Amino acid sequence: MSEQNKPLTCNFCGSDQYEERRIEYLYSYKGEYLLVPDTPVQVCTNCGMVYYDAAVLKEIERRFFAIRQKQERPDRYIQMPTTSYAS
Ligand SMILES: [Zn+2]
Repeated sequence: MSEQNKPLTCNFCGSDQYEERRIEYLYSYKGEYLLVPDTPVQVCTNCGMVYYDAAVLKEIERRFFAIRQKQERPDRYIQMPTTSYAS
C-alpha cells in the first residue's frame, strides 16, 4: 500500500495548496476488501494528487483486522460486480 504523508509542497507539481476532502477509500489485503466512505484526505488543488494521513490509514487497517477477527462489526455489506478486462 502506498502511504504518503502530505508534504509541504506537492510531490508532483510543487503546489502548496491543498483542500480537505472526503473520499471512499478501498482497503485491500490479500483479496479481502473494506470500503471506507468519508475517509478524510488532502487533495492538491492544482493537480489533484491525493494524500492520506498515516494515522487515518492505520485506523482503517485496525478496523479491517478487527472486523476480520469479528471483534467489530461493519456498518453493512455490499456486493460489487467484477469484470476481468482480459477474459
Ligand atoms: Zn499537485
